[in-house]
Amino acid sequence: MKKIIIMLLFISFTTTSNAITLTMFECVNHMGFYAKTDKELSEALEEIGEELEIADNDIEEEIREYIEDKYVVNPDDILVLVNKDSYLPVDYEPSDLVEAHTKCYGVNNKLRKIAADNMKDLVEAAMEESEYELILTSCYRSYGYQERLFGNYVKRSGLEKANTYSARPGESEHQTGLVADITTIKMGGLLKEEFGDTEEGIWLANNAHKYGFIIRYLKGKEDITGYQYEPWHIRYVGKEVATYIYENNITLEEYLYSKEIQDKIIEIVKMLGNVLSFNDEV
Ligand SMILES: [Zn+2]
Repeated sequence: MKKIIIMLLFISFTTTSNAITLTMFECVNHMGFYAKTDKELSEALEEIGEELEIADNDIEEEIREYIEDKYVVNPDDILVLVNKDSYLPVDYEPSDLVEAHTKCYGVNNKLRKIAADNMKDLVEAAMEESEYELILTSCYRSYGYQERLFGNYVKRSGLEKANTYSARPGESEHQTGLVADITTIKMGGLLKEEFGDTEEGIWLANNAHKYGFIIRYLKGKEDITGYQYEPWHIRYVGKEVATYIYENNITLEEYLYSKEIQDKIIEIVKMLGNVLSFNDEV
């Protein structure tokens, strides 16, 4: 796999079309490098190549040991919660992955069908309403891919720091197939916080829910989500839930928690109802 990544980077680097340029920036970006010019890119690619070469099994083992046994039981659920306390199983891969209808640049270009269909509508709406060209840069990522990606971040920043900006394998929402990272040509294909202040980023934040997506990692909610603000990372949850989350400015964690509480209250009220009617009869 390491070789494949290097090969892809090499192919990207030796091709000049816009699409491939984005692929290469996306790869570089995901490896934790930030390159804007061809020169920076070329240096980053060289460094990545070296890092991948010296990657060893120790880091993978360290990560696996760190992961406790907190696997989700409903990985196929549209509302599955994946975060630092709730993991997808190692071998989980959605069964309904399709190629994103709108081109998803990079090595990971698939989404679950329902997310792909709605993503297409979202991207088309941005273009029709405002002539904004939204670009998908990273969609479904397998457990193995995330493991290697995170391993490289750990080498760069150490385990604790790496986990503030990257997900450990199994904790990445990208493994659900319900997520894509969005960028624009203006952003150079990169994923940066400034995207949230661009016209396209503002449009996305205010319209994604109409197509069933939420901005997953909100500003000011870092303590709840466990991640820094990411205006580019959108997650499919369905239109109804996305609209509720958007209108109430809450996170998926908060939504699921309040739903759980509500369900419990309903259960208790029903139980009480049974007890009361039983007492009435007596
Ligand atoms: Zn993402």
